Amino acid sequence: MNNTKLTNSNDVFKGLQSKAVETHAHTLGGSPCAKVPAREAVKAYADAGYGALMITNHFNADTVPKPGLSPRDCAKRYVDLYREAEEYGQQFGIQVWFGIETCLLGGPEDFLLFGVEPDFALENPLLYEMTQEELFRECEQYGCLLYQAHPSRSYCQPRDPRFLHGAEVYNGNIRHQENNEITLLWAKKYRLLFSSGSDYHQTEDLARGGILVPESIRDIKALAAYMRENEVTLITND
Ligand SMILES: [Zn+2]
Ligand SMILES: [Zn+2]
Repeated sequence: MNNTKLTNSNDVFKGLQSKAVETHAHTLGGSPCAKVPAREAVKAYADAGYGALMITNHFNADTVPKPGLSPRDCAKRYVDLYREAEEYGQQFGIQVWFGIETCLLGGPEDFLLFGVEPDFALENPLLYEMTQEELFRECEQYGCLLYQAHPSRSYCQPRDPRFLHGAEVYNGNIRHQENNEITLLWAKKYRLLFSSGSDYHQTEDLARGGILVPESIRDIKALAAYMRENEVTLITND
């Protein structure tokens, strides 16, 4: 963890062996707080030179349930919105990967899941009713990684590191006080894995964060396997 490389996003695209991956992005319709439609968001990331974009819409008790729909149908609706973005990815030449950002029982903090496919959401349509420990155990069983998103944002607290694989040590959102440097110290102390993400909600958030991984990584499972074993280069914009 000590040699984590920080890369200013201006330098990112010089190394052609690596590809930039956005790990934290929301789309209109999938997240009530997001302002950019999936088609525009996917195109913007392709134009910015990213090789992959993870869609991490909010999978929360106040965003996923819809009146008259069963929990599974609500999860399916979440997945369908991702599928739509995935198709735009094919159109614009960028891989679009499935992700989840969720808020659990016990606090307002958010968590990112790396390495889940849509089946995880369909099989756990009420995952926002889990505790952090319960979700961590579920992730262990499934083989995905649980990271806390922006742990030091003003209204958040770092959660129990025993039930985390990693932490988003750089969050590029400029509308919150992120205190990323405090997160980095905390994550190092508990030997957590690191990630960086833009937390894209609107146009000004484009390409402020992300990670650099080998070009050979072609899907979300491969990404999680790589992140579990390797330090990723963090894209930052400070
Ligand atoms: Zn949001
Ligand atoms: Zn977010």
